[in-house]
Amino acid sequence: MAEYQKTVVIDFDGVIAQYDKWRGVDVFGAPMKYAKEAIAELREWGWWVVIYTTRKKTPALLSYLNRHGIRYNAVNSCDHNPPDTSNKPIAEVYIDDRGWWDVKRKFSWVRVMRRLRRLYQPLSARDLTNSSKWSSRWTRFWGWCRQQELAHPAMWT
Ligand SMILES: [Mg+2]
Repeated sequence: MAEYQKTVVIDFDGVIAQYDKWRGVDVFGAPMKYAKEAIAELREWGWWVVIYTTRKKTPALLSYLNRHGIRYNAVNSCDHNPPDTSNKPIAEVYIDDRGWWDVKRKFSWVRVMRRLRRLYQPLSARDLTNSSKWSSRWTRFWGWCRQQELAHPAMWT
């Protein structure tokens, strides 16, 4: 069976940009912590990144993403869907601050990525000894988490 490119659908308000309430078209909050790094990592995994928001795809929105280094494949698009499907983009994962799993919690990219790495990119014990995998603070932190898991499996179930 063919291996399809995985798609991740990412919300904008409360996920890429901080959000407390609607303040108008083209009024955006400051970037969320680690949004840029996490989305870059998903693209490194070869995933197709769709930003899906109730906001219109305005030039100001695209310029915000560009200015803050958020690299994506599409905005408000379900063009990757096969024919005979609706406007809901088909995805491996939706990342949304109003998704049920996170709805009453403060949205955290650290929590999201810790979970996604465990599900999709498990680092092997061998990777942990390969220093080229330890290039960023982000990766070192995750490597530390993984070592804790290996050392104390019962704590991480
Ligand atoms: Mg939102």
